Amino acid sequence: MQLYNSATHKKEEFTTHTPGRVEMYTCGPTVYHFAHIGNLRSYIMEDALEKYLRYEGYDVNRVMNITDVGHLSSDADTGEDKMLKGARREHKTVMEIARFYTDAFFDDCRKLNIKTPEVVQPATGLIDEFIKVVQGLMDKGYAYFAGGNVYFDTSKLDRYYVFNDHDEEDLAVGVREGVEEDLNKRNKNDFVLWFTKSKFEDQALKWDSPWGVGYPGWHIECSCISMKYNGEYLDLHCGGVDNAFPHHTNEIAQSEAYLGHPWCRQWFHVHHLNSDNGKMSKSKGEFLTVSLLEEKGYDPLAYRFFCLQSHYRKALVFSWENLDNAAKAYQKLVKRIAALKPADGPVDQAVLAEYKATFIERVGNDLNTALGVTCLYDALKADTNDATRLAILDSFDRVLSLSLLDKAAELRAKEAAQARASSASGGFTVTGEGDPEIDALVLRRAEAKKAKNFAEADRIRDELRTRGVEITDVPGGAVWKKI
Ligand code: AMP
Ligand code: ZN
Repeated sequence: MQLYNSATHKKEEFTTHTPGRVEMYTCGPTVYHFAHIGNLRSYIMEDALEKYLRYEGYDVNRVMNITDVGHLSSDADTGEDKMLKGARREHKTVMEIARFYTDAFFDDCRKLNIKTPEVVQPATGLIDEFIKVVQGLMDKGYAYFAGGNVYFDTSKLDRYYVFNDHDEEDLAVGVREGVEEDLNKRNKNDFVLWFTKSKFEDQALKWDSPWGVGYPGWHIECSCISMKYNGEYLDLHCGGVDNAFPHHTNEIAQSEAYLGHPWCRQWFHVHHLNSDNGKMSKSKGEFLTVSLLEEKGYDPLAYRFFCLQSHYRKALVFSWENLDNAAKAYQKLVKRIAALKPADGPVDQAVLAEYKATFIERVGNDLNTALGVTCLYDALKADTNDATRLAILDSFDRVLSLSLLDKAAELRAKEAAQARASSASGGFTVTGEGDPEIDALVLRRAEAKKAKNFAEADRIRDELRTRGVEITDVPGGAVWKKI
């Protein structure tokens, strides 16, 4: 596969330390609130990347942290602990908040067909390991103790790698407007490995350490969790583009200082989902969740479809109109697949192989999922039988994960049930927007009319009207829609 590596700023041939095996790490969520659909854009694209690598035949070991301690409201070690903020907002303990939002995150992932990584490690479960690595950095002279905290000394590195897309001004974290300078830092880019002192006194989670009772910095958790479960050589590290600096920069600094050799060969950064007024973010408090999309009647997979239609290295603007278009296109696609006849002959293996090769050529070019979606439409038009078309679609869906064949089977079953209901009701057909309760009311109204019970028929029409449903009588049935 050709993949853009944000560490080298080039599209490169994807390589691994051990042939055939990918050690992959993903920065997990900070569980102080629901994930918003922006966060989930990152996880959808990372999921597609993992599944694509598997499609090419790699064995993938994917590791993810859950940040339940240490992430302050500024990524640069200042501000309030995000978990504490969440706990205070909801009058709960930090661990209650962590458990609740971790479960909520995986519920969202399940609805979006995002696979759970092989290893999921909450930061609070690996404190001894963090202490071991911080001690190792102290022993090697890469860390110092000042004002009660342990800091990483960036001046000890040959090179503080910053992914190049930040200028000097951005890096001057300690002197940025609105951010208090930490006078304990020897260099402006130094960062905290272990806190015993901070601006707020009521830190709920604390552990004993050689430097006093305290808690780990945010960056150290990802390095340690990856080194423990991925080993010393990481092939692929993923995250949203806001993680690149300072989080990933600091991960590189401390991992390479600790290990004494290069650590991660490829970096994959997903660009942001933006709303009209800029980046969607949890801290702004106003954001969209998967549950909200569901409440508004959207299938979460329509959101996945929306994300796959654009490239991960471009910012994506969310609007209801754009989501509507994606939802309609997704429904139409499912409908076309449902119209294929599953058992109309043997699968033509040569045609299947030819289509798979084209899919790999297109999606394998820097994870071009939009072209992957185009391949679905090509498969529908393929010059072959339906069984082969379905086999091609099923194969592509191993990467795209849109549940295409399952949704098509559901639709077929629903249409069959409707046809049965229609013949049971003397050939009267109800066409609507897929709400069985409304279908039943419309049918009851037709039966009342047939029995000349016009009062009951009018009553049902009024009831439907108050529910925002408009009925139009057509030959052989009725059509309804929500207005
Ligand atoms: P957090 O829970 O804040 O630690 O973020 C979880 C993941 O979502 C990280 O990989 C972030 O880089 C990513 N992320 C945050 N905001 C957005 C956004 N608006 N669009 C896409 N990804 C985002
Ligand atoms: Zn991380």
